[in-house]
Amino acid sequence: MRTSIIAVGTELLFGQTVNTNASYLSENLNLMGFDVMYHFVVGDNPGRLKKKLVQAFEDTDMVLLTGGLGPTQDDLTKEMVAEYMGVGLYRDEKVVSDLKSFFERHGRHMADNNLKQAYLPEGCTPLYNASGTAPGFALEKDGKIAVCFPGPPRELKWLFENGGRQYLEQFMQKKMCYRVIRTIGIGESDLETLLLPLIDTQTDPTIATYAKEGECTVRVASQRDTAEEAAAAVDEMTARIEELAGRYIYSLNDEELVDTVVRLLKEKHLTISAAESCTGGKFAAAITDVAGASEVIRSSFVTYSNEAKISVLGVPEETISTYGVVSPETAMAMAEGLSRRAGADVSVSVTGYAGPDADEGHSAGEAYIGYVYRDMKGYVSVNTSRNMRKWNRNYIMLRMLRTVYLLITDKMQEEQAAKKQ
Ligand code: AMP
Ligand code: MG
Repeated sequence: MRTSIIAVGTELLFGQTVNTNASYLSENLNLMGFDVMYHFVVGDNPGRLKKKLVQAFEDTDMVLLTGGLGPTQDDLTKEMVAEYMGVGLYRDEKVVSDLKSFFERHGRHMADNNLKQAYLPEGCTPLYNASGTAPGFALEKDGKIAVCFPGPPRELKWLFENGGRQYLEQFMQKKMCYRVIRTIGIGESDLETLLLPLIDTQTDPTIATYAKEGECTVRVASQRDTAEEAAAAVDEMTARIEELAGRYIYSLNDEELVDTVVRLLKEKHLTISAAESCTGGKFAAAITDVAGASEVIRSSFVTYSNEAKISVLGVPEETISTYGVVSPETAMAMAEGLSRRAGADVSVSVTGYAGPDADEGHSAGEAYIGYVYRDMKGYVSVNTSRNMRKWNRNYIMLRMLRTVYLLITDKMQEEQAAKKQ
């Protein structure tokens, strides 16, 4: 079914509020197999809202609205939808009693304007809101369907899950299945080129790549008559994507890289320690952000200065003076020193230029990640070619995670062989 979303609220146009409701609704509607064709944003203005309703219903059969259902004068969504559909409003006694008990529970006086929320369009299906005061509703007339939700994101989600979704299910024609595959170590355009043979020839499942904070994800989605058929089509396409881009894939089910790494370390009963320079502890912070990290990390170091690299990790002074502090040799000496000092199963180090500046002959975003794991010692070089400090630090941290991921899944040798080719 062709669907539009109208987000109502002047604060959205001012840029004070990000329109997260549209993305929430869109994602859920797509998952249910609805074709979302348009997003509109309109301020708290009756004339312009009416115009958008007319436009949305010209091209689509169903319009979902969020915002403008509250008790104040500028909340007009309900009135405009009722007017557009040519119905009046009635006072819903359940909403009246819900409102009264809401204010009693919170020990607050109910201002008269709150009763405005108890009026709903005649003939609608009310969506009673136990997470706030403004009810939502669905109104179907002459083959047009309008579904209205309150603006506060928490209330929208609650109402969508408690009534909204159930109402929409009656209109579902196809079943959708999708999967988010996560990759790291390849840019979006390279990934797209790699997958082009699949992207070019496919209409269902659809394949879309997205860049996301240094990572790339691939979304594979299929709409079929049954959920089983859709899942089978997604699985088959996933196998073909793995054939082409398997090296870069670390999750087939939308798991964060750090979650994957911590999970694998736990499963393999491995401990980890890091010696960080340019990332300043971001790696350790990411690991310890995951619940249960204490099973895998006992200590970790931030050795920012040359002096700390020498005194804390035992990096030989000559290594730094001969090769430079940002060099594969220093990175490896850091990892080896760390391995002696902390004795974890996996020792990973990093030295680099976060930017925006770098020393002569180097560039911002240049970094070396050293590692010691079992009988393996080595380094990975990174060069982002960007002078954005924050971005570089995050990306370099992600590459440290990827290095650990490759090591503990025994994929590092494969990776290095592929690099040499
Ligand atoms: P309203 O239902 O229009 O009174 O909206 C109440 C509050 O919900 C607003 O002040 C915003 O903070 C928030 N809100 C409204 N619309 C959106 C939206 N599309 N996305 C995210 N937040 C929103
Ligand atoms: Mg509003």
